[in-house]
Amino acid sequence: MVNKSPEPFRARVQTLKAAGMSYVDMYLGCERVRSDSWWNSVALHGAWGGPKSARVGPPAPETWEGIAKLFGTSKDDVAAMIAADWYGTGATDVQPEDSRRAGAMTQLSDDDLALLDRIAARLGSTPQPEGRTPMAVLEIKKWSPRNYSEGAESTKRCTWGSGKVSGACPETPVYTVRARDDSRWSACRTHVVTYIDDRLEEH
Ligand SMILES: [Zn+2]
Repeated sequence: MVNKSPEPFRARVQTLKAAGMSYVDMYLGCERVRSDSWWNSVALHGAWGGPKSARVGPPAPETWEGIAKLFGTSKDDVAAMIAADWYGTGATDVQPEDSRRAGAMTQLSDDDLALLDRIAARLGSTPQPEGRTPMAVLEIKKWSPRNYSEGAESTKRCTWGSGKVSGACPETPVYTVRARDDSRWSACRTHVVTYIDDRLEEH
């Protein structure tokens, strides 16, 4: 969607050429606002390129409509591309599909716009509405000694919550849980709840 090319205008010409269009085709396709040799120079040298006496200059506004037709885009896009190629504005983030989308959005009702906002939020591209925190992510699976390196405490017993105060938990491990530092621990039926409480405190 985002074209990082610093020369979107020239890139478009090269794409058309690569797709089999000749420079004469481009001359005809742009309603003859630019000559075939001009299109050739754009592809070959780019903006301001070529011999000093025949530098490739920026197309004037009256040519934009024809060029837009050739490029299959809008006049505004052509202007943005010219600004990027000839004046280095970096306005290349404005791609045809972006402006089409923006144009379509001006036609929408307030209800439809609200729906779009909700879809965007659902897809995670915008922050959650105020006051709604995401659910905690718990990583729990059935315990197996194979989840741990050989000889680790977790291969033998519940290690979650068996700290300095309470000492080793006597219960049989039932679950393997992942701690916030990404390490795995075994937990018994009681201590899996301690784990859940621990994760919820982050929220
Ligand atoms: Zn335990």
